[in-house]
Amino acid sequence: MSYISEAFHWLCHSLSQEDMLAPNKETGNWQVCVAQRDKKCGCSSCQLACQLVEEEEYVLISEISPSLPLWNPTEELSEGLTEKELTPRRLRLILVGKTGSGKSATGNTILGREVFESKLSAKPVTMAFQKGRREWDGKELEVIDTPDILSSQVQSEIAAKEICQVIAFSSPGPHAVLLVTQMGRFTEQDQQAVKRLQEIFGEGILAYTILVFTRKEDLADEPLDKYMRETDNQSLAKLDVLCERRHCGFNNRAKWVEKEAQLQDLMNKVEWIQWENEGHCYSNRAY
Ligand code: GDP
Ligand code: MG
Repeated sequence: MSYISEAFHWLCHSLSQEDMLAPNKETGNWQVCVAQRDKKCGCSSCQLACQLVEEEEYVLISEISPSLPLWNPTEELSEGLTEKELTPRRLRLILVGKTGSGKSATGNTILGREVFESKLSAKPVTMAFQKGRREWDGKELEVIDTPDILSSQVQSEIAAKEICQVIAFSSPGPHAVLLVTQMGRFTEQDQQAVKRLQEIFGEGILAYTILVFTRKEDLADEPLDKYMRETDNQSLAKLDVLCERRHCGFNNRAKWVEKEAQLQDLMNKVEWIQWENEGHCYSNRAY
């Protein structure tokens, strides 16, 4: 918890008054406004910025896909969601996990092109937070690649800065967290990473987390669902339950058609998260 307060303190003091009053539309950097809103700041610029976020991020479903059937906005849907015909237009997906697990490669698969450097290396390759965007099915996907912020070896001072950066980069909050691990290699270190993920973002983050397994090709033709049901790795099985069995596999070396099918599977899970959370991105006091 001390990481978060330290990080938030650093963030507040490292931003100028101008940053607070002039949210940057290009980078989508709305974090200060949202933090102020959480603190019930009533200043007009904060309110304006918050309003802009809402206007920019949400769009009527009927505008995206005119062919979708219209329904009564007050009607309770089967999932318990009182739908206001809103769905996020821009979806922020953040990749986290151990170095070498395949975060950058998965980011590239999602984006459909090589945006992030991805290679086997004894040292971490991704040293900074990076973003890539693509249009997909009428939505804008914003993919955030991260250095290994979940490693317990990161010193607390560096960690505080990294937490600020991850919060700023994913502000006003991610729509889904993609926790990347290699197929068949969920270790003690990965368990630590999950703990740290909850320390950084808050325990509720698991409601927005999808387990992403790279090197799906190692499964041969066995379905991932079957593998997850039968795994004797107790911590992995428990995590899968905590994440409401949202898991998917990626072969980042597959052909384009297979990669797009993998993306579709991932997006089904992202959509599921949206339905369960009434279209809201994850947010907590840090945001
Ligand atoms: P990161 O440190 O988590 O960003 O990991 P990278 O994306 O840099 O990947 C590390 C290595 O794993 C690279 O050599 C990738 O090509 C490889 N890799 C990632 N995903 C897959 C996959 O699905 N299948 C295979 N065979 N290799 C992969
Ligand atoms: Mg990387």
